[in-house]
Amino acid sequence: MPEALHGHAPIRRTKIVATLGPASDREGVLDAMITAGVDVVRLNFSHGSPEDHRRRLVAVREAAERHGRTVAALGDLQGPKIRIARLKEGAVTLEEGAPFVLDVSLDRDAGDATRVGCDYQQLAEDVAPGDVLLLDDGRLELEVERVEPPRVHTRVRVGGKLSNNKGINKQGGGLSAAALTDKDREDLKTAIDIGVDYLAVSFPRSAADMQLARELLGEAGAEIGLVAKIERAEAVADNDTLDGIIRASEAVMVARGDLGVEIGDAQLIGVQKRLIQRARTLNRAVITATQMMESMIESPLPTRAEVFDVANAVLDGTDAVMLSAETAAGDYPVETIEAMDRLCLGAERERSAQESKHRIHEGFSRIDETVALSAMYAANHLSGVAAIACMTSTGYTPLIASRIRSGLPIVGLAHSPIAQRRMALYRGVVSLPFDTTDIPAEDLDARALKLLRERGIAEGGDHVILTRGDHMNAHGGTNTMKILDMEATS
Ligand code: PGA
Ligand code: MN
Repeated sequence: MPEALHGHAPIRRTKIVATLGPASDREGVLDAMITAGVDVVRLNFSHGSPEDHRRRLVAVREAAERHGRTVAALGDLQGPKIRIARLKEGAVTLEEGAPFVLDVSLDRDAGDATRVGCDYQQLAEDVAPGDVLLLDDGRLELEVERVEPPRVHTRVRVGGKLSNNKGINKQGGGLSAAALTDKDREDLKTAIDIGVDYLAVSFPRSAADMQLARELLGEAGAEIGLVAKIERAEAVADNDTLDGIIRASEAVMVARGDLGVEIGDAQLIGVQKRLIQRARTLNRAVITATQMMESMIESPLPTRAEVFDVANAVLDGTDAVMLSAETAAGDYPVETIEAMDRLCLGAERERSAQESKHRIHEGFSRIDETVALSAMYAANHLSGVAAIACMTSTGYTPLIASRIRSGLPIVGLAHSPIAQRRMALYRGVVSLPFDTTDIPAEDLDARALKLLRERGIAEGGDHVILTRGDHMNAHGGTNTMKILDMEATS
């Protein structure tokens, strides 16, 4: 049985996404990560085989069941990350001021301190003299001097150690490989097959890339939410493009690793805030990702800077914070989750995290949306409310409700496991299984209250705000909001 919540530990609203890998494969680690509070696991298709991902997802579903927790799975496609090929010696040191050639015709393993191969055949067409190319997440910089297809002649601006298969970005964006590679198309089939709840598309340039992914998902598209990773300069270059990508997705990720390389780290701060705000306004969920707890790969404690990074993302209104190598390959995966849990809870205590002016001057067009937002307004203003409970078939009403800031839990009561796991990503939403098939219509409200009492979310004397439809299980059927009282006796 999960622990009772009321009067005990507060419920964490911000969700934790943790990447799986060799570190989480170690004996007992996955169970400990789930009990420490992981809400969504990320299967990173840039590493590992389809069998690794399948095995890990099976283990997650079993562990979640064992611990009575709802844990969603996010598959993350590699995308057209452009990389250098390999070096004869495995690594070389590039000296500042030295010439260096990127040559797509060079043998894959023949790189040295003067040149290296690259799989991206179009490289010479996409760059021009004066362009700055960034290697290894921006650690090394090359300036393009001459382009002689298939070779790009550069000079080293910032040198350092370069090893096999490091990524290449162009400052300002513009390396324009299509967002879904042949490998991605294969991995997408694997993702459907193993049953992920969300699928992340890497490096989308526009809404069209997301629409293509949706077409490829076909019928599975109804069950798998698409996540657009915002990591190209083009994606944030203008509001229309960004809005288009957000609207074409169920959620977005502030993919600060690649995005920071393309637009520069100083631009990243404003973009994170705008992106989170925009996603919430457009009724989409948003994940903040990359290097949040980077030092915890090797250390059991976060730095002060990391403490504030997590807290600031929470105050910006993110639905979820994400861990990459920290949980996939680090020495302290469980400690990292525990630290994140603690920091999110700390930031959520701030008043600004609980007050909302969301859409205060805007009209609404949908009935379910109007009920969801009204319920939150009522809950945030009436004293004595313990929770907002939403009977939902798809999770849509809790999504809309959770776009409003609040200190109160939004309880998503869904029958379908797909909807239950979809809600695991939404900030402030406690996702609980609620099978209505054998409940007489007149008993539904009482059964919902009983469940809230059992889970320690509400107790005698509390108000609970309930939303539901007159016709249960109808998609978009929410048309009712009620204020109910918990009976004093248990
Ligand atoms: P990645 O994406 O970890 O797959 O590169 C996230 C990012 O770029 O921040
Ligand atoms: Mn990336």
